[in-house]
Amino acid sequence: MSNIADIFATRVFNDALMRERLPRDTYRALRESMERGKRMDISVANVVANAIKDWAIEQGATHYTHWFQPMTGITAEKHDSFITPAGEGRVIMEFSGKELIKGEPDASSFPSGGLRNTFEARGYTAWDPTSYVFIKDGVLCIPTAFCSYGGEALDKKTPLLRSMEAINRQALRILRLFGRTDVHRVHTSVGPEQEYFLVDEELYLRRPDLLYTGRTLFGAAPPKGQDLDDHYFGVIKPRVAAFMKELDEELWKLGILAKTEHNEAAPAQHELAPIFTHTNIATDHNQLTMELMQKVARRHGLVCLLHEKPFEGVNGSGKHNNWSIDTDTGVNLLNPGETPAENAQFLLFLAAVIEAVDEYQDLLRISAASAGNDHRLGAHEAPPAVVSIFLGDELTEILEAIRSDTPYGAKEKELLKVGVHVLPRFPKDSTDRNRTSPFAFTGNKFEFRMLGSAASIADVNTVLNTAVAESLRQFADELEAAVDFETALHSLIRRVIREHDRILFNGNGYEEKWLKEAARRGLLNLKTTPDCLPYLLADKNVALFAAHGVFSETELRSRCEIMEENYAKIVTIEARTMLSMANRAILPAVSRYTAEVSEHIAKKSQMSLDTSYERDLAERLSAHTAAAHKAAEALASAVSSLADAADAAARAAHCRDALLPAMDALRREIDALEPLTDAAAWPYPTYGELLYGVR
Ligand code: ADP
Ligand code: MG
Repeated sequence: MSNIADIFATRVFNDALMRERLPRDTYRALRESMERGKRMDISVANVVANAIKDWAIEQGATHYTHWFQPMTGITAEKHDSFITPAGEGRVIMEFSGKELIKGEPDASSFPSGGLRNTFEARGYTAWDPTSYVFIKDGVLCIPTAFCSYGGEALDKKTPLLRSMEAINRQALRILRLFGRTDVHRVHTSVGPEQEYFLVDEELYLRRPDLLYTGRTLFGAAPPKGQDLDDHYFGVIKPRVAAFMKELDEELWKLGILAKTEHNEAAPAQHELAPIFTHTNIATDHNQLTMELMQKVARRHGLVCLLHEKPFEGVNGSGKHNNWSIDTDTGVNLLNPGETPAENAQFLLFLAAVIEAVDEYQDLLRISAASAGNDHRLGAHEAPPAVVSIFLGDELTEILEAIRSDTPYGAKEKELLKVGVHVLPRFPKDSTDRNRTSPFAFTGNKFEFRMLGSAASIADVNTVLNTAVAESLRQFADELEAAVDFETALHSLIRRVIREHDRILFNGNGYEEKWLKEAARRGLLNLKTTPDCLPYLLADKNVALFAAHGVFSETELRSRCEIMEENYAKIVTIEARTMLSMANRAILPAVSRYTAEVSEHIAKKSQMSLDTSYERDLAERLSAHTAAAHKAAEALASAVSSLADAADAAARAAHCRDALLPAMDALRREIDALEPLTDAAAWPYPTYGELLYGVR
């Protein structure tokens, strides 16, 4: 492999290239619109577009695309070539500023949740100049936001950018109160840790459930599961190591800061963590990472499963969203700092997060909701569906001292006064022991652990940024009007802790006892996607997003409908796939095998041999076959009655209440048949083969 520094970001038109290839004035104008969010002049865009085109052609690109993130959760692109007719049958390569900053894809093939009925089918994409253009598979990709002609967001990027603007606006007000006039821009940053499974491609292709739904819908437990815990951080197999090496190189070329690759807890499970970066770029990079994981895996005869729960009884895959707030002067506002002033500012931002997470726990839950992740949340390897915050003992004691006006610790004689006293230092690692919390403070950032591996990180960060912006807005209103800043600050922080301490929980989130305690505290426990989605349209949530210009009510309604529709479609496809596998392969195979066993009984009986094994087997096979048949009929009828549901919400509820239980009943019978059936007769690769099939 070449030197990392030599290949890093070679496919990205980054700041160094901009500086090198653009006239000084153009470069300055471009930086201005990147840093201050200013609109770009078309004459500037023309010069930038031309420089980008020359570079892209040198790199072998022939096409360009506006790369965007529709609400399907994956990315979309439509390729246009650079060619323009130049007379006499010749062509020249052209790319204008207009083509760079605006595209007009047909929006009608993307989910719009009803927006399409009211507005034109056409949509437009607009360059997000804060995310660099890059070349992927010979195509120049321009990261864009995607809107309808009425200006409604049709993607995940637009609201994210709006939420970053909202938190910037409110955080700057707070920083002014602390005399921070040097700061001009506040960002949020994210480092998403991505989990995934790798399975052998040949085995994958023989499993229709993996092919159509990304998860196994049948499969008896293998003789060895996670019992020995010997996979985590274990030696990486050569084929997987080759995959990881190539993946890292591909990611580095795109300027993605892939940092850590290791085995995860389950067999065949792995994780990749990048170095954190600004949230909108981290979102783009995570989408690219997921795309490249799947592409590169195929080159190694592997398939990358991003589903949240590909295997029953085996750990699922999550995505940890490490989130912090930082300034353009390089200060992390979630870092406790060393001086009383820094401490006070930290405590205020901490209070903002605590209030936001408590007030908008429903929105955070929704941001992690999907049909796939429902199999994970609340199971024993993933955080529960209840949102709570882990702060660690030291920080909790400090907050407790402020809350109850009591001295902190044994040594302190004085009461802790915000802005006057230096907070005791608390070691970073002591804060990161609890892996069961959905939202953990890890020393200088918060880690949201509810997200499923397949999710875009855009939604959760849109919620976090907006909810914290709202706390900060209220704090700024109050503190700007205060006569004595320090006193007002202290009492504000104390009040927030008193009002919201129900959301703080340092204990084991996996325990049944916590769910009872959480219910007593009045925290929400929204177990499934259809359970939580109606909360999206609660008055307080509509008001929140409208106040910060992140979503209009129309946009929010459309999103809710898309999520309901998507949930129902996924569950229905799973149900149909199960029916097809059971009726067309598994039950016929088991029936043939049972007939074979019955023939043996007849033959052995003629010889007066003991047939107890065969009889017992044939009886058990027949019993489960009959039960499976009955369960399949019940599932088929649940699928057909889906047509009676009135709207998307009713379809989602029907899937939760009728389809999923019927699917589970069918699975129990089929999984009982598998260990009884001759391995050679079973039509599909087993869990054992899938989980241990990669050498
Ligand atoms: P841990 O091992 O405690 O989970 P790491 O240092 O390995 O923490 O980081 C995990 C992820 O968190 C990485 O993607 C890392 O880049 C990211 N991260 C670290 N610091 C920050 C920060 N200040 N803001 C956002 N993400 C961060
Ligand atoms: Mg982590």
